[in-house]
Amino acid sequence: MYNPKSLNADEFIDHQEILDTLEYADANKNNRELILGLLEKARPKYENGQVHCEGLTHREASVLLACEDEELISKMYDLAEEIKKAFYGNRIVFFAPLYLSNYCVNGCLYCPYHTANKHIPRKKLTQEEVKKEVIALQDMGHKRLAIEAGEDPVNNPIEYILECINTIYSIKHKNGAIRRVNVNIAATTVENYRKLKEVGIGTYILFQETYHKENYLRLHPTGPKHDYNYHTEAMDRAMEGGIDDVGLGVLFGLDKYRYEFAGLLMHAEHLEAVHGVGPHTISVPRVKKADDIDPNEFDNGISDDIFAKLCALIRISVPYTGMIISTRETQEVREKVIRLGVSQVSGGSRTSVGGYQEEERPHDTEQFDVSDQRTLDEVISWMMDMDYIPSFCTACYRAGRTGDRFMALCKSGQIQNCCHPNALLTLKEYLVDYATPETKAKGEQMIQKEILTIPSKSVQEKVTYYLDQIDKGNRDFRF
Ligand code: SAM
Repeated sequence: MYNPKSLNADEFIDHQEILDTLEYADANKNNRELILGLLEKARPKYENGQVHCEGLTHREASVLLACEDEELISKMYDLAEEIKKAFYGNRIVFFAPLYLSNYCVNGCLYCPYHTANKHIPRKKLTQEEVKKEVIALQDMGHKRLAIEAGEDPVNNPIEYILECINTIYSIKHKNGAIRRVNVNIAATTVENYRKLKEVGIGTYILFQETYHKENYLRLHPTGPKHDYNYHTEAMDRAMEGGIDDVGLGVLFGLDKYRYEFAGLLMHAEHLEAVHGVGPHTISVPRVKKADDIDPNEFDNGISDDIFAKLCALIRISVPYTGMIISTRETQEVREKVIRLGVSQVSGGSRTSVGGYQEEERPHDTEQFDVSDQRTLDEVISWMMDMDYIPSFCTACYRAGRTGDRFMALCKSGQIQNCCHPNALLTLKEYLVDYATPETKAKGEQMIQKEILTIPSKSVQEKVTYYLDQIDKGNRDFRF
């Protein structure tokens, strides 16, 4: 029986509820009146300087996903853009993945790290190597990392992950610092989540891969990840362990996208119903070519248009949840979906263990082929050409604004006086410390233009003072 408040995965991601949802969506996909009503419901409402969005339920959003009317779809895109502007303005936060180890005991059929893959070299970074990777990342300008590791209780136990996180935070090379470490490791125990919280992680990210249980069991034939319920209930354990920023994701291509979309929103509704706070982020990876992996073997691949529609509908349905897009996607696709609601992107990524220390991009231990292979500076410059402010901000988490406190900031209307200046200050640090002269010139111009959009005069003055301080060699100012 479907029950969003249950702690049993079979009940909060109820298979029959998803089937009924898809049937309801098919029955209503040409119901123009209903669809226009849903778009109106999801529109941002402004009141007393505050902006509020209601979002949509998995059933409502599934109707929009089923709709094939071009005119209505273009209204969905316009609305996604409007919501994005209301909550995220023109800021895009940057991060980079850091692969610690590709040792893995699981048998995931889509992942090159699967245990039966004998021709991929297995590698695990020593603390000395972690340090070198972090220095290389700091020298690019990164401030926020997502650490990645295979699941292997012998080679990558939680103590190893914790040691790596401590090493990462301890490195201060020139003006560099990693100020937020997000963690993407396999489902674990409440006790281990508590330990991750204690060493100061940002978001705990775990992709569901697929919400279709039967298919999940087939795609994960061996290893601890085979346990669908343990995997699906991981976010509840993470929250019990004190982590209130969690990141969901589906690996699109494994199962039917409409099924996954309904499951993803049901998962978000479940977190809200049980813990009073929805997911901090949602990631939208698509299966890519990799060593021993041919994405064509998974026959549920989605077109770029459907991908864009999914991104727009996630933005409309869960307006307060950040959306992440990685370098799995090409420049062209990234350009399209950033407009529709993406709030975080990776740049200059290497998806191999130890890849940042190498001059040339190494392929032998890569987790997937990187489509966007530009340098971070090139991506930053491109972002500014599109009039987006590249941001390296990590302020919320460091000021304790996580979970529902972050959501409260989103709703308060104070974003232009808080997130916007923080974006400008962290961009300034990037320009002074790492940018090429062309990017620097472009960025300085952008900052001068964007200061004027800060509503509070006193905040404007403070930002001007902090910018001058950054020129004088001081760092890490924030609101
Ligand atoms: N090992 C951890 C786990 O099992 O959750 C997480 C780390 S894994 C390095 C990060 C994610 O990469 C996986 O959750 C999966 O969704 C994604 N991934 C695996 N193989 C992929 C492929 N061939 N193409 C694109 N993404 C892939």
